Amino acid sequence: MSAASAARSILTTLHEVMAARTHAQAKLNQVVEVIGDALDSEVCSIYLLRDGMLELFATRGLNQAAVHVTRLGVGEGLTGTIAQNIETLNLDQAATHPEFQYRPETGEEKFHSFAGVPIVRRERAIGVLTVQHVEPRRYEEVEIEALQTVAMVLAELINNAGLVDGETLGGSAETVSGQLICEGMQLVNGLAIGEAVFHQPRVHIEQTVAEDTEAERQRVYLAFDRMREQIDAMTSQAEFGMGGEHVQVLETYKMFAYDEGWSRRINEAIDSGLTAEAAIERVQQRTRMRMREISDPLLQDRMHDLEDLANRLIRIVSGQLGTAAQKGLSKDTILVAKNLGPAELLEYDKRRLKGVVLEEGSLTAHVVIVARAMGIPVVGRLRNLRGQVREGDTVLVDGDKAAVTLRPGQGVLTAFEARFAQSREKKAAYAKLRDVEPFTRDGERIEVMMNAGLRDDVGMLAMTGADGIGLYRTEFQFLVSATLPQRERQERLYRDVLEGAKGKKVIFRTVDIGGDKSLPYLSNSTAQEDENPAMGWRALRLALEREGLMKTQARALLDGAAGRELNVMFPMVSEPWEFDAAKAVFETQREWLKARKHQLPTAINYGVMLEVPSLAETLDLLLPRLSFVSIGTNDLTQFLFAADRANPALAERYDWLSPSILRFLDRVVKTCAGTPVHLGVCGEMGGRRLEALALIGLGIRRLSITPAAVGPIKELVRKVDTKEIGQAMRGWLLNPPENMRHTLQEWAREKGIEFD
Ligand code: PEP
Ligand code: MG
Repeated sequence: MSAASAARSILTTLHEVMAARTHAQAKLNQVVEVIGDALDSEVCSIYLLRDGMLELFATRGLNQAAVHVTRLGVGEGLTGTIAQNIETLNLDQAATHPEFQYRPETGEEKFHSFAGVPIVRRERAIGVLTVQHVEPRRYEEVEIEALQTVAMVLAELINNAGLVDGETLGGSAETVSGQLICEGMQLVNGLAIGEAVFHQPRVHIEQTVAEDTEAERQRVYLAFDRMREQIDAMTSQAEFGMGGEHVQVLETYKMFAYDEGWSRRINEAIDSGLTAEAAIERVQQRTRMRMREISDPLLQDRMHDLEDLANRLIRIVSGQLGTAAQKGLSKDTILVAKNLGPAELLEYDKRRLKGVVLEEGSLTAHVVIVARAMGIPVVGRLRNLRGQVREGDTVLVDGDKAAVTLRPGQGVLTAFEARFAQSREKKAAYAKLRDVEPFTRDGERIEVMMNAGLRDDVGMLAMTGADGIGLYRTEFQFLVSATLPQRERQERLYRDVLEGAKGKKVIFRTVDIGGDKSLPYLSNSTAQEDENPAMGWRALRLALEREGLMKTQARALLDGAAGRELNVMFPMVSEPWEFDAAKAVFETQREWLKARKHQLPTAINYGVMLEVPSLAETLDLLLPRLSFVSIGTNDLTQFLFAADRANPALAERYDWLSPSILRFLDRVVKTCAGTPVHLGVCGEMGGRRLEALALIGLGIRRLSITPAAVGPIKELVRKVDTKEIGQAMRGWLLNPPENMRHTLQEWAREKGIEFD
């Protein structure tokens, strides 16, 4: 008999049992009979989790007096082990297993062979289904498969009958998984409490037994077709805005999507009487169990990919598409995802989104920059996170310590809330510095500006008391739009920003699209070859070629800044001529507007971002034509070290406080010294206290940082003596200490300067 037909004959009968108008207990009593008969087993028992214990709910073959009397802890005996590990056991001699425990009231001593499978719902074991036999023999693979399929259907029956404590599964489920603390990588500081919501929601399968097998088969065929179309479309778009790693992942997706073995196994599960959704889940469960035995991390990564794809398939088949953003958030939320794009994050309701936890992520990935701008704590690089957290779990995000607590116990929750309150107090203390000008101890004025990109960000100027906006990322408007923003919309935004800034300086950076900021509506003419988009057709390179785009933006900025000062900054300038070409586009537009008697800006200042190392070589030649230079340390670092800023594997490899970066920056400072050109830093580096200290030591006097860092950096500035740190820095640059970070930390500690 095949596994499919074994399961099918049981499921057909079970279907009738489940449909009958009898009490849940009566149904369970029938279920054990049906299974026992089908597998020719003397014993069949069902244990369900109640109040944290596995209670014998129904049995055939064991003493009936033991029903509702025999109770085992999770992890106790064979049954408890199955629930704890969510694993199958198949033993010819049960008594020889190290976890075996004998319960005299059951009368099970005469049964030698034992097999048990967990009954799983929402990735938690809510019970165990066991069969036992007098004769010592291992159950065959087909029998085990049938048991597993039946356990899946039983999960539905048990849930519908409310036999375990409802949807949340109450405290009992907590016993299965309990509190878990996961260590990750600190991406955005801050604390948050909320309920776990999956960015790609899991579909909860409500019906497991099929009414019409052929119809289910058709549904799966169609879903496979759609999924393959989606993957093909994603792969063909991949060259624009996706790093090499993503392309690799897509290739794996493609391999799985077209894998005959996978679709065949799903078909077999449908043959056994399951619905399309249940069949996909069933195959996934089996794969999960197999993979658990393999510890190869590479294979485990592939397992994640397969999980992603299986979830996608279930979503397609059940018609439950879309991300959690589209459904809307109803509670304080901690968003759980493998990774996110910046545009995807921006779709969420800011009032409800409290924190983000990712399996991937790196400090300077744009999604992280956006989260930082939104003031949302993020912890990343949490391996297998989605396997450990469940929708609706309480999650504590500690962006300061890079830790995430799942399902915290009361004590941990209380302690966390106390820290939360403390951090709010600290924030309030920083807020008091809002109107205090940041002078160093020796009287140097440091300009503390902020980075922005969303319309609402401008409000943060008044809230933080920043000196202005040192980097306005205009591409954010493009990222949040479904179509290319028209000139009028751009102009309106720029005017609103300048109005909101109330005379404070705003530096608009022209669009920096490409890299990890891809736009579905803007295709790449060189797409096919762009294997490395961060170093490819992006930012000014793209804008100069797409002259229409650049002209439109130039006009929008010039009109939007009518009657005010306009500061324009070009990203990714690698050679001086690129600056000249970009400036020429603006100047031509200015002439055009002037001829048509438009009101013009009172002054136009042009500057560059220094983020491609080559520019440092010719900076002296370009300086006379510039008003300002802003060092983009995010890109600069990735290019200096040849280390993709979005690649999680490299996220912790190189330190911003490395002699190479500091010496590089020192050289730029020296090149600009004595010229009227304003020099600043606008990368994420400047928003960290220790790094900011180093930058001040190098002679940087303008920082543009994430709004949340304005308070902490102002506070730092007031503790610094530029001569002291300048002198120390000169020594370290000449003779770099073995670990610059530690040396600087030590130095700061001696001076009573706190760092993050
Ligand atoms: C940078 O590269 O440092 C920068 C500030 O720009 P972005 O992060 O937008 O690339
Ligand atoms: Mg950059």
